[in-house]
Amino acid sequence: MRVRFAPSPTGSLHIGGARTALYNWLLARHEGGTLLLRIEDTDLERSTPEHVAQILDSLQWLGLDYDEGPVMQTDRTPRHQEVLALLLASGHAYRSTATGDDVKAFKDAHGADRGYRGADQGEGAVRLRVPNDGATVVHDVIRGDTRFENIHLDDPVIARADGSVLYNFAVAIDDLDAAITHVVRGEDHLSNTPKQLLVLGAARALGIDEGRPAPVYAHLPLLHGPDGKKLSKRHGAASVGELRSAGYLPEAIRNYLALLGWGAGDDQTVLSTEELVERFTLDRVSRNPARFDQIKLRWLNGVHIRQLSPAALDAALREFLLREGIVSASVLDADPTRLQAAATISQEKIHTLADFWPLSGFLFEEPTQDPKAAARWLDDDGRARLADTRNALAGIQQFDTASVQATLEAAAAQSGASAKAIYQPLRVAICGTTVSPGIFESVALLGSETTLRRIDAALATGA
Ligand code: GLU
Repeated sequence: MRVRFAPSPTGSLHIGGARTALYNWLLARHEGGTLLLRIEDTDLERSTPEHVAQILDSLQWLGLDYDEGPVMQTDRTPRHQEVLALLLASGHAYRSTATGDDVKAFKDAHGADRGYRGADQGEGAVRLRVPNDGATVVHDVIRGDTRFENIHLDDPVIARADGSVLYNFAVAIDDLDAAITHVVRGEDHLSNTPKQLLVLGAARALGIDEGRPAPVYAHLPLLHGPDGKKLSKRHGAASVGELRSAGYLPEAIRNYLALLGWGAGDDQTVLSTEELVERFTLDRVSRNPARFDQIKLRWLNGVHIRQLSPAALDAALREFLLREGIVSASVLDADPTRLQAAATISQEKIHTLADFWPLSGFLFEEPTQDPKAAARWLDDDGRARLADTRNALAGIQQFDTASVQATLEAAAAQSGASAKAIYQPLRVAICGTTVSPGIFESVALLGSETTLRRIDAALATGA
């Protein structure tokens, strides 16, 4: 099996392109096949080196490696010209100045469903001659066969008057030369397929196909947003880069994108990449549009976060926090063990890497005070309880989670107040808000000195 991913570098890698890349990658890895990366940069106005770099970076971050390439489509221009010249010389293609109006006039004369046929005028754009008999059949493993009677197909334009070739021509010749066996791509390319097959048919007639059969096609279902409309920027993060900045893990994205149009067959939703590789086959790809739902991705990301080892979560958080400029390395490194400890006590509560700092940043730097939380929990009553809590904590010899917990629980039992009435003022004093990792773990990690200092500050300012 030889498959390819062929992005156009006219923008960054989006969810749809990433899914196409992933499906090709999974297929190649499942079958022990080869994945080729081809950058389709022939749209010179919209393709940029920055987009190429972004796409390569996104693929690398997603962990989707390729075996051949990247091949730049523009580097193949001499080959495209060679085949074009062969087609013209052999009469399989011709030059024509026919305009859209001429095509319309032809149809008015011959019937609307009659494919346009032109005459060689020796100048103008290059059109491929479509035979009048026979049919062009698209074999699609997801959609079945679609048959187009050749008589209904227009002679397609394959190159402009200046000789530059059009997309459907370049793709077909590139796939042929690369001996691609399976073309797996988005459903939006379905309508291009008959044209590409016609080009391949002409290549066969010329004898340049080396006897290779046309590739098997698999057109992946459309992606919709949760509202059932075609996926677009309106539905939240749309590019891989944006998902990365939003704190998603590559393994969670791979898992989630795999499920957009494919199912493991047993409703299993949490799948490791090894499981995906093992189980991925085209025959379980659906024809129906798939829904991209960021809420589900977020949930799944949380599941993958909880599966990380402490060291792996530490590393992922560190990379994320520094890359996004959320905190400086000097703050993280002030205590070299703190990030891993903080990550461990936050692991159950975060869905994305971006959730970490708002939840646990108070363990590294002075917290931002939420005035509403202070108003609610640091009133006279709250401060009185906080003063008791301070006294209890100040007496601890060995300031670890177990003794903090034992001490606070004993103090709570003695006072007869509810857990909330005791712990919320403490939380607001040390974190600035009412949301944090477990209070005992947080206090222990923060340490006696900082904890008492923040309590004292809260008691002073709240007064
Ligand atoms: N370059 C095309 C795109 O980015 C894909 C072409 C193909 O897969 O055949 O949409």
